[in-house]
Parts: sequence; C-alpha cells; structure tokens
Amino acid sequence: MNEEHKNEDRHGLTGRNALEAEARAILAPILDRKAAGEKISARERMAIPPQPMPAQDPAVRSRNIEEVALGYTESQARLEAERCLSCKNEPCIQGCPVKVPIPRFIAALQSGDVKAAANIIKETNLLPAVCGRVCPQEKQCQAECTLGKGLKDPEKSVAIGRLERFAADWEREQGLAGVPAVKKATGKKAAVVGSGPAGLTAAADIAREGHEVTIFEAFHKPGGVMVYGIPEFRLPKSIVEAEVDILKKMGVKIETNFLVGRTRTIPEFLSEDRFDAVFIGVGAGLPKFLGCPGENYVGVFSANEYLTRSNLMKAYDAERAATPMFRSKIAAVIGGGNVAMDAARMAQRLGAEQVHVIYRRTREEMPARAEEIEHAMEEGIIFNFLKNPVRFMGDDKGRLTGMELQKFELGPPDASGRRSPVPIADSEHEFPCDTAIVALGNESNPLVSRTTGGLSTDRRGRILVAEDQKTSLDRVYAGGDIVLGAATVILAMGEGRRAAAAINQLLQSGS
Ligand SMILES: Cc1cc2nc3c(=O)[nH]c(=O)nc-3n(C[C@H](O)[C@H](O)[C@H](O)COP(=O)(O)OP(=O)(O)OC[C@H]3O[C@@H](n4cnc5c(N)ncnc54)[C@H](O)[C@@H]3O)c2cc1C
Ligand code: SF4
Repeated sequence: MNEEHKNEDRHGLTGRNALEAEARAILAPILDRKAAGEKISARERMAIPPQPMPAQDPAVRSRNIEEVALGYTESQARLEAERCLSCKNEPCIQGCPVKVPIPRFIAALQSGDVKAAANIIKETNLLPAVCGRVCPQEKQCQAECTLGKGLKDPEKSVAIGRLERFAADWEREQGLAGVPAVKKATGKKAAVVGSGPAGLTAAADIAREGHEVTIFEAFHKPGGVMVYGIPEFRLPKSIVEAEVDILKKMGVKIETNFLVGRTRTIPEFLSEDRFDAVFIGVGAGLPKFLGCPGENYVGVFSANEYLTRSNLMKAYDAERAATPMFRSKIAAVIGGGNVAMDAARMAQRLGAEQVHVIYRRTREEMPARAEEIEHAMEEGIIFNFLKNPVRFMGDDKGRLTGMELQKFELGPPDASGRRSPVPIADSEHEFPCDTAIVALGNESNPLVSRTTGGLSTDRRGRILVAEDQKTSLDRVYAGGDIVLGAATVILAMGEGRRAAAAINQLLQSGS
C-alpha cells in the first residue's frame, strides 16, 4: 500500500469512498425514474437501505483527536433523503425542540438543492452543523419518525441529524454560509452573559432586529461547552468558530476574559453601562464531586477540568499545549453519562494505557447515548458496572495510587425510574489507577445570582424564569443550563431564542 492510500485508510476515506459507490449505484435508477416524471412509491422508499455514517477505524481514531464521524457523501445524503415519506402530519417536527421544518428541508435535498435545505434548517436553528453532530436525535425527531415506527426499528428512522449535518457542512465548505440580514440600528443595547448555545442564539436574534449586542464571556474563547466540554473528535472547534464569525459579521461584539459578577455586575450593566436588557446564559459549569476521602489527591480531576484542559487548553497537542497533562497509565472515569464517555475517550486519546469506566448501575441504566457507549466500547474502553469508589488512595507525595471500590446490586426503581444501586456490604476492594476523573454532572455556578440582588433561584441555584424567560428582575432574562440544569445544546438554543423574542419586544416597545 502506498503512502497516499495508507493515509486514506487512516482517515476511513477508503470506506467512505466504498459507501459513496454503493449509494450511487442504488440512487442512479431512482434519479432516472424521477427525471422521467415517475413517482417513487412509499413502499419503494421504505425498501431503500438506511445509510451508515462513514467513520474512522476505531483502532486508529482512539489515538487521534480528529473527528470520528466523517459525514455523509453526496450520494449517501441524497439516497437517505429519498427514504423520507414527506408525511403530511409531520411527526418528526413534533419531536424537534426548535421545530426545524424537517420534511421541507429533506424535500429540498431530494430535489438536489442543498443550499435551499440549509436555508430551511436555519429558519429555526442557528447552529445546524453543531446540532447535526451532537443532538440526541434518537430521542427527539428520529424517535417520532414514521419510518422507524412503521418498520418497528428506531434505527430505520430517517437519519435526520446526519442530513442536517450534511446540508450545513456542504454550505460552509462551499463558502455559501451567508450572514443574516440585520435591520437598521435602533440605538438600543443588550448585554448577553455567556457565549454557549443559549447566549449565541439570543445574541443573533437580538442583533437581527438592529439592536447593539455585546457578549461577555469568562473564558478566552467563545462557544461555552461546545468549545471547552464537547471534545474535538465529536465536534471540531473550527465549526463553532465559523458560527461565531458569522455573529461577529452581524456586528455582535464579544468581550472575552470578562467574568460577570467580578469584572462587572448585572446591576452595573443596567444602571451605569446603560444596557437596556440583559440575557444570562452562564450554563451549569460547577462540577459535582463524590465527597469521599482522598478527592484532593493529585490525579483526581472533575470531568470539567479534564475536558477543559484537553479541549480549550489543547492538552492533546502535547508539544504546544499551554497546560500539558501527565500521561496516565490507568485512568478511571466515574459516571455513566455522556460527559463520562467524553472524558474516557479523551483519556484514551491522551495516551492512557488503560481506560476504565466505573458505574454503579448497569449498561441498561446508563444515561449516555447508545452511540457514545458503542463508540467507547469499540475504542477499547473497559466498563466496570455495579461499582463505585468509597475513597481515593494516594502516596506520601499526595499523588493518586488507586481507589477503594464497593460493589452494588440493583434494587427497585428510584425517582428517575431506573433501578437503584444498592451497596453490597463488605464488598470493598482496591483498584489501582493514577488518574480518576469524576463525571457525576454539573450544577449552577452561583456567582451571577450572588452578585445580582433580587434574582430568584431555586434551591439548586437555577434561575427561575417566566414563560418568556424573564427573571424576577425587570429587563433581565435567562436561559439554557442555568435555568434547566445540565440539559442539551438544542434546548439551550430554544431558550435563547425565546428570551430574544421577549427582549426584542421589550426594546421595540421603547420602554
Ligand atoms: C462534556 C459535555 C458533553 C456534552 N455533550 C452534549 C451533546 O453531545 N449533546 C448535547 O446536546 N448537549 C451536550 N452537553 C450539554 C450541552 O453542552 C449544554 O446543555 C449546553 O452547552 C448549555 O448551553 P448554555 O448556553 O446554557 O451554557 P454553556 O454552554 O455552559 O455556556 C455558558 C458560558 O457562560 C460562560 N460563563 C459562565 N459564568 C460566566 C460569568 N460569570 N461571566 C461570563 N461568562 C460566564 C461560560 O464560560 C460558558 O462559556 C454536553 C455537556 C458537557 C459538559
Ligand atoms: S416522520 Fe420521518 S418519514 Fe415522515 S416526514 Fe419526518 S423524517 Fe420524513
């Protein structure tokens, strides 16, 4: 095999080319019949094979940081689109939190008009290339798809997310992603605190109406969890950067390294800096810990810190990273959600010899997406079910040497509906590791609420809002994880959009 082909293989391109050829062969007679004015029946559409996502080989990708899923080829996308039945009652739209006109964008793909498809998606979704990659479609639009339901197999649903990604990537790669029109300047000013999906969406919708928008972000890069949490191998940062660039071209100003609550407070924004409205989208960035002995040993990380060092500080780029990380021999990730899967797969990519997931229930109860669990398993992550640490152990230099794990069995369902983990007495045993990553979820950071008098929160620190996202304070709105608790990109965007509509109404009313 020559160098060029080795390189193609490394990136899964040989497999991708084969999938393109297979799809083209099935697609050609369908397109010929359509060109001759023939209709493709629902039965024929249902018989078209669902298109798999081309991906890097697991053995190769587990040691590089590049994106795992490579995206549909043109023929694959067109063929997958041909599977859609254009259902009149549009059940897929009901499953989408931002109501993307799914049948309409897929119909545009069926007619070969990818640009029109991208435009239709963007009517309601500002970040389609992001959502196409990270939305839990199997629980949302695709769960409602007639095809999956009719064929009694959710995997047979139209791959709506992959088609959304295809249209958005195509538009960006062709240099056709335009800048939304902005109305004449109104002279009104809005401050957006936090640049995650909630803040970016709110900023875009407010700026569109001609209001001046400034985003204030604590980190040195905008994007929120999309930049510091979700790893490069699932969501390339260049995609988020491209979306942020569009916002800048719309005239949105972004102040980074600006910690609201310290650098400036929300009351100061409103009284001294003369902002007419404020949107708070500060996310849920405060990690939860186990609270067991030894959690301060060097080598115990929160998943937040571990992923931030890896993504934002580029620890994977060992030669150039500003904050390099030591290479683990045995890394253990505690938790069973998407964040735990991201941390485990990142530890593998950072060179750990062995990576374990420690979870106190079984695979069935794991909250992580099935696809993420499968990807982690394919990449060689070792799963240890029905176990949880009761203490961390260290040496005399304060470095982690291992954990004491307790065994569990499953009891009756708890409040979450999942069977509860019940500890087994006298089952403690040692587990050697030099890195432990605690991935038990996140809570609200209290800084903004503590420095904003009169802002109502619940007992978990989430900001309380009305239906239009208005907080207990006039001119102050909030949305995303700081309201919902740790949720999803698309739900955060939905809240940002709702808040922007209310802010626009407020600013338009002249009050
Ligand atoms: C590792 C990980 C993986 C995930 N994977 C997925 C996934 O695959 N799919 C999915 O849909 N969701 C996923 N999520 C959840 C999703 O990323 C969040 O629900 C979403 O980003 C919330 O958006 P947000 O705008 O509310 O907040 P965030 O994205 O958290 O953004 C908040 C921003 O506010 C900034 N900020 C905080 N305090 C201040 C302050 N005082 N002053 C100024 N700025 C401040 C923060 O630095 C941050 O940039 C994941 C989360 C994590 C942690
Ligand atoms: S439910 Fe499925 S088949 Fe029907 S319009 Fe939506 S994507 Fe197409």
